[in-house]
Amino acid sequence: MTRIAIVGVAGRMGRTLVNAVQQDTGATLAGGIVEPGSSLVGVDLGELAGLGRLGVTAVDSLEAIADDIEVLIDFTAPQVTLANLAFCADHGKRIVIGTTGMNDEELTALDGFRDRVPMVFAPNMSVGVNLTLKLLETAAQALGDEGYDIEVIEAHHRHKVDAPSGTALKMGEVMAESLGRNLKEHGVFERVGQCGPRSGKEIGFATVRAGDIVGEHTVMFATEGERIEITHKASSRMTFAKGAVRAARWVAGQANGRYSMQDVLGLD
Ligand code: NAD
Repeated sequence: MTRIAIVGVAGRMGRTLVNAVQQDTGATLAGGIVEPGSSLVGVDLGELAGLGRLGVTAVDSLEAIADDIEVLIDFTAPQVTLANLAFCADHGKRIVIGTTGMNDEELTALDGFRDRVPMVFAPNMSVGVNLTLKLLETAAQALGDEGYDIEVIEAHHRHKVDAPSGTALKMGEVMAESLGRNLKEHGVFERVGQCGPRSGKEIGFATVRAGDIVGEHTVMFATEGERIEITHKASSRMTFAKGAVRAARWVAGQANGRYSMQDVLGLD
């Protein structure tokens, strides 16, 4: 049984992760961490997640539960995740990171831990999205240089703090890579005013933020006369949480390194 601690356990993903760990026969919930000084310290994690008492309570310091845990699952914020990576490196723990919205500096810092920590880092843990990435690679190779314009449209709930979503960026990166393009050069993230006609090689992004949308991504390949759309819609956070627990069980048996969900699912 993989002994898992959830960082950010009071968050939207954190509470769903409590459910997912409880449902997984190969994992056990060994701890949950809330923000330092939170009024939720001492609250039973099952009650936090609406499951009834589980006998494991929220703490606000990883040190307090270091001996009980093997793998952290972290869906929080970039700087919190980097601090948790340092903790894992110092204490010989493993980590599954779902946090999105890291800037280049933060991504470089994260990558600096690849020789010290076994980590899975993925902007989207759902099996469906990771299969979709494979489909996009194939579609981009077939269509991207044949006059088809590529646009990524994503929609999320009103509370999401980063844009475009980590998943949308990952989709863009996968397609850019398979076409020998560079997303930093060819990604277009804003169109407003007199922005002129579209160039052939750009990969455009459009963002919707509204209500309680869990996560929707459509990639459009459009040319004169036809359009192909590849869409993934998440209807419950449970799809991400189940993927994260699967990744935690998998990374428990891995050496130091930075792994993706493609590695976990054997899609590479
Ligand atoms: P949220 O705001 O509901 O939850 C984040 C939680 O982290 C909050 O409860 C906050 O109190 C807690 N937190 C902040 N600092 C902390 C600290 N120092 N120690 C412990 N906890 C701390 O957000 P959310 O919707 O759950 O999303 C969290 C992150 O996960 C975002 O970056 C989001 O984009 C990402 N996400 C990733 C996937 C995926 O599949 N990879 C899926 C959904 C969301």
